[in-house]
Amino acid sequence: MSTVSDSLRAGPGFDLAALDPASTPGLPPRRRTRPDPKSWARAELAVLGTELARQQEMLFAGVKSDPADRRRVLLVLQAMDCGGKDGTIKNVAGTMNPQGLRIVGFGPPTAQERRHDFLWRIRRALPDAGHVGVLNRSHYEDVLVARVRELVPARVWRARYKEINIFEKELVEQGFALVKVMLHISYEEQRRRLQERLTDPAKYWKFNPDDVDNRAYWDDYQRAYADVIERCGTGHAPWHVVPADRKWYRNWAVAQLMLDAFQSLDLRYPPADFDVASERKRLEHDEPGRSIKVNGR
Ligand code: ATP
Ligand code: MG
Repeated sequence: MSTVSDSLRAGPGFDLAALDPASTPGLPPRRRTRPDPKSWARAELAVLGTELARQQEMLFAGVKSDPADRRRVLLVLQAMDCGGKDGTIKNVAGTMNPQGLRIVGFGPPTAQERRHDFLWRIRRALPDAGHVGVLNRSHYEDVLVARVRELVPARVWRARYKEINIFEKELVEQGFALVKVMLHISYEEQRRRLQERLTDPAKYWKFNPDDVDNRAYWDDYQRAYADVIERCGTGHAPWHVVPADRKWYRNWAVAQLMLDAFQSLDLRYPPADFDVASERKRLEHDEPGRSIKVNGR
């Protein structure tokens, strides 16, 4: 486990309000991040990305060669509006092979989704074995926005923490490595990012007037996030809180968390289930219309 993961894991007694969204926990000391931490983190992300892609390939190959292998990695991304979920997906998940990725975003439930329990749409969005999944918002919205905006009675959202813990335990038992990440931005950084969306016409499409309304509920959301982290941060599926005012740090930190999840699976390329030497020989001597038999094949 890397020191980055250790410093970002929200263990018992974690205090969200005390974590500076502009901080950079786990970043190596300044002398190692020359010429400047930002360029260093960007270069390091490229290195991490190459390794993430290799790990993802080993995960895929393992399941292909052994269908009993049910392992997979699931990144659960939560954040306030403009928290950087999309940028994280582009920069971190974007280093991996799109064929092995399943990325699903969640908005307000549709009429069909509302006819089922809140985990129904999440179950349907999970990655197959051998794949990497990303949830852009998730079942946690049902104890965040649902609580803060009073979409359901308190007894309903309160009961959900336990349901979520049971659900996630089930996933881990099925072979999921869960990476639960809250991207933590400041109130001022959110203002800056919303202003950007109102300044650059190429960003108007990202702006939603509701996001400005939601700022009035900032403290309620922070309290709801703190409760989520306390109640659903478990040994098998801990929460990580990534200070996210600095995008270069955020990308580097989430890539580290993903790499740790892969490494916890101790992946290897599967050995050949055929005789490598005789297959090489067959290939060397074959001709169109005539296949070479070696060892009876
Ligand atoms: P950005 O961070 O760029 O603003 P976004 O994730 O907010 O992106 P949008 O499509 O703008 O993407 O918004 C999705 C909205 O759906 C959010 O406001 C979120 O709170 C809401 N939502 C998600 N799940 C639920 C849910 N279960 N119940 C009600 N609202 C939900
Ligand atoms: Mg939004």
